[in-house]
Amino acid sequence: MKVTDRIGQSSSTLLSFEVLPPLKGRSVQSIYEVLDPLMAFKPAFVNVTYHRSEYMYKKRSEGIFEKVYTRKRPGTVGICAAIQFKYKVDAVAHLICGGFTREDTEDALVDLWFLGIENVLLLRGDAARNERHFVAEPGGHPFALDLVKQVVNMNRGQYLEEEHQGGKTDFNIGVAGYPEKHFESPNLKADLKVLKDKVDAGAHYIVTQMFFDNQKFFAFEKSCREAGITVPIIPGLKPITVASQVNMIPRVFHVDIPEALSDAVEKAKNPAEVEKIGAAWCIEQSRELKAAGVPCLHYYTMGKAEVMQNILGEVF
Ligand code: FAD
Repeated sequence: MKVTDRIGQSSSTLLSFEVLPPLKGRSVQSIYEVLDPLMAFKPAFVNVTYHRSEYMYKKRSEGIFEKVYTRKRPGTVGICAAIQFKYKVDAVAHLICGGFTREDTEDALVDLWFLGIENVLLLRGDAARNERHFVAEPGGHPFALDLVKQVVNMNRGQYLEEEHQGGKTDFNIGVAGYPEKHFESPNLKADLKVLKDKVDAGAHYIVTQMFFDNQKFFAFEKSCREAGITVPIIPGLKPITVASQVNMIPRVFHVDIPEALSDAVEKAKNPAEVEKIGAAWCIEQSRELKAAGVPCLHYYTMGKAEVMQNILGEVF
């Protein structure tokens, strides 16, 4: 079922998870080990992230470096299909612009459609590790907006080549929103304009970047509504599980950690206490958002099934 249909049919706050495909060479079992215990909470859908391919330099004999193409976490489409087959829960496949030509994207969408995966979250992706800025693949999309337009075209039966017009897909489209603005955006207003463009182009709902201060989410939601964005906005939450995340999260995701949370983590006596503090913070955030009537709570699980179980047991 489509994400927005599930939301439309539910009178209470739904629940969803994000999982990462396993590292190349590891078993799909690692995904099941996270999801098996979480299925008791009846998630409305499970998102599977997409990881771009990259070039690495590997040292060969005689000090020679070789440029090697690698994708560390392949398997997004396959894992979505496996999740739908095993758990009978809808999967949301993330698709990114980075590393994809338009043709690659079209082929991935055809695979998803044939597999009965009708939900996609469309993203630009970040710069490759060896690039300073995001660079689109030659023949690929520079922005998520362009990816939205391609999927909307396929939903109308318009494929890239004229001889392939016809078969309409019916993808439900999610896009990313940033309560604390995307780090490349000059300001919140400009970022909101980009978000509105994605919705006006055909996105059906928004999932937010993680945040640790609910007031930032409420302010963002208000700004979206004032800007005329009417689609569901799903808040994304992540519990702090290790002390180093207090510095890593702002660096990587460009979001603030409130003083009360970073102070508490700093004073924690051991890793178990950090995990407890992070979970308690996430529970408080979840309860407040649920009370405010958000359509769904989306959790970035990061493979932490036990922590998630403790949190969800308190919230749902
Ligand atoms: P866009 O909407 O394209 O925006 C990117 C930047 O470009 C913004 O600063 C925007 O303001 C600016 N911009 C957009 N359009 C224009 C324009 N026409 N002119 C000028 N500027 C413009 N990354 C992955 O690699 N894989 C994943 O699976 C993944 N999942 C994610 C899930 C969620 C819920 C979120 C919030 C993020 C996820 N990301 C993922 C990270 C995401 O790819 C990055 O945050 C990326 O930097 C931006 O993606 P976007 O879709 O928001 O890009």
